[in-house]
Amino acid sequence: MGTEVEAFEEEWAEYCKAKYCVGVSSCTDALYLTLKAMGIGGEQVITTPATFFATAQAIIASGNFPAFVDIDETGNLPPMDFGNHTALPVHLYGRPGEWKGKRVIEDSAQAHGLSLSGLASCYSFYPTKNLGAMGQAGAVVTNDLGLANEIRNLRTYGEVGRFVHYRLTGNHRMDELQAAILRVKLPFLDGWNLARRAVALMYEVRLESVSDVIHLPKDHPQHNYHIFAIRTKDRDSLASYLKGEGIQTAVRYPVPMHLQPVLRHLQYHEGDFPNAEAWAKENLSLPMYPEMSYEQVEYVCEKIKEWVRKR
Ligand SMILES: *Cc1c(COP(=O)(O)O)cnc(C)c1O
Repeated sequence: MGTEVEAFEEEWAEYCKAKYCVGVSSCTDALYLTLKAMGIGGEQVITTPATFFATAQAIIASGNFPAFVDIDETGNLPPMDFGNHTALPVHLYGRPGEWKGKRVIEDSAQAHGLSLSGLASCYSFYPTKNLGAMGQAGAVVTNDLGLANEIRNLRTYGEVGRFVHYRLTGNHRMDELQAAILRVKLPFLDGWNLARRAVALMYEVRLESVSDVIHLPKDHPQHNYHIFAIRTKDRDSLASYLKGEGIQTAVRYPVPMHLQPVLRHLQYHEGDFPNAEAWAKENLSLPMYPEMSYEQVEYVCEKIKEWVRKR
């Protein structure tokens, strides 16, 4: 946590149009520390069942409970005003959601390029994200100075003043080397996001003719296409067909949060969130990265159409 971390914090705050940024060790830790810094415990935190486990994990690790709400046709929690409730919505796949409220923490792990709109926004710089370090890193941005300062203290064992600790957290420092790498890569981020949007557009044009079988993602002008996920009823059959043709795909995510074995005690059941459950069964991430060529997209689309014809 030297000059590179400090400089990156300044640059990332500016990039996210926020006043303050605290660099930490991962997005999982960013979410956890933000909830801890808000000083809540035993509270219900509204969140989505369609996310990576880190979202729900942070709520539980901070001593709170996830209160799941079903997603809409975009994959996100529907646009809503959470009022005074604490909420932890996710901009899934990098598609911006529209939420209001005084206590909204955005899980922006997949949404690099999206400015702060809630109380705080948490980012991941895991190597596979749109802006990736060469190891683990994350950050919180906020306009609330008190919150930023508290997260700073909690980042290093709840230390205020040298070797004086007043709250229990852990070691959540951002690594100086990762910050230096992120500073080199940051100027390229907008270009990479734009290139991803171009790949998405190619997919949309090329798959239009089979869009009754292959449901395309709902676009948004600020969608950064961290993930380009289509939906189809025979998802596993399509995935194995593409694999046979040398095309790697992925499922993000196959098990919704309310059905995770470790959350059994919350007593949610199959059928509680039909949209999220259908999403988990039908989603398939197609290859997506900024350097993907027209020929590569064309090849993937040809093979998908072949599968549709042979089905
Ligand atoms: C990657 C990811 C995280 C966790 O980020 P880490 O930096 O790996 O801890 C949290 N939430 C979502 C939605 C993610 O995609």
